[in-house]
Amino acid sequence: MTQILRPQPGILDIELYKGGASHIAGQSNALKLSSNENPFGPSPAAVEAFRRASHDLHRYPSSDHAALREAIAETHGLDPARLICAAGSGDVINLMCQAYAGPGDEVIHTEHGFALYRIYALAAGATPVSVPEHERMTDIEAILAAVTGKTRLVFIANPNNPTGTMVGTDALASLADRLPEQCMLVLDGAYAEYVDGYDAGLALIEARQNVMMIRTFSKLYGLGGLRIGWSYGPQEVIDVLNRIRGPFNLSSAALAAAEAAVRDRDYAGKCLASNTQWRHWLAEALAALGVPSDTSMANFILARFTDEAEAEACNAFLKSEGIIVRQMGGYNLPHCLRITVGDEAACRRVAHAVGLFKGQAK
Ligand SMILES: *Cc1c(COP(=O)(O)O)cnc(C)c1O
Repeated sequence: MTQILRPQPGILDIELYKGGASHIAGQSNALKLSSNENPFGPSPAAVEAFRRASHDLHRYPSSDHAALREAIAETHGLDPARLICAAGSGDVINLMCQAYAGPGDEVIHTEHGFALYRIYALAAGATPVSVPEHERMTDIEAILAAVTGKTRLVFIANPNNPTGTMVGTDALASLADRLPEQCMLVLDGAYAEYVDGYDAGLALIEARQNVMMIRTFSKLYGLGGLRIGWSYGPQEVIDVLNRIRGPFNLSSAALAAAEAAVRDRDYAGKCLASNTQWRHWLAEALAALGVPSDTSMANFILARFTDEAEAEACNAFLKSEGIIVRQMGGYNLPHCLRITVGDEAACRRVAHAVGLFKGQAK
């Protein structure tokens, strides 16, 4: 077949992203624990703001996102001028690759890192470079060993998805200080809110020109369906991203809901407390059943099974019980299942089902 119109190099190497399943054929009340969503949903204030936005759907949204940037900046103690909002943090990953990585450039991500780093590096024509982790932990020395003169971006999710592990600020500082000048460290803090006392890399950013953070409203704030993310970093980088982002990349409803969500500290605190409590409970319940996991700092647990066959069998059993978790073959962890920490009932239900599976399997 002759093909005259060809996509840019790299694009056909992209495998389609597969999101977490949300339905099981023949089941009406499936429990979805496959996409790290907040089991309580968004703050009622965010839902109310979304409803109010329905009165002005004919109006274009703000293109400078000033109100939302101000609300985020107040909450986190940031300079709103160095903050950019985008349609989910995935959008920021895309903008970073488009702006700073092209053909001949390399983009580093870790072995079990988030799939979008590779996808957007390829979309920009750059070469993604996968760096091994050490026992499912980001390995700073291995990253430095993989850096070349062509490296432009280093993506680290901290805490990481799907492992749930994280590296300390000292290790990140050591990495940032040893990266060559032409290279930016991008800290993906999608789960930073779940870590008590972690500044998501803010102190590193304030002291350097080569570090930035990416954040999202999809996890703790429960607004994955609305697509809202943001990034904070050096002014020059933010100015570059502002040139290439869509001027109306966030809908008015998304802007309003996010602003209300980030201002509702009380609600965020309650969701966080529940996650911490039930994450511990679930990890211990699974460990007692012979299913270990690394200590997770996020809102999910990476449950390790004996081998791929057992993980697959457990996944099938959970499905038959109406529970959807995430298989990890695509992340090079075929013997693992990633299980989102739900509310109390959800955690009890999934632990009970794994117990039945283990009993059956014996
Ligand atoms: C869930 C997740 C995100 C969030 O992506 P959005 O596009 O904001 O929904 C970003 N990074 C990682 C590592 C994630 O797991």
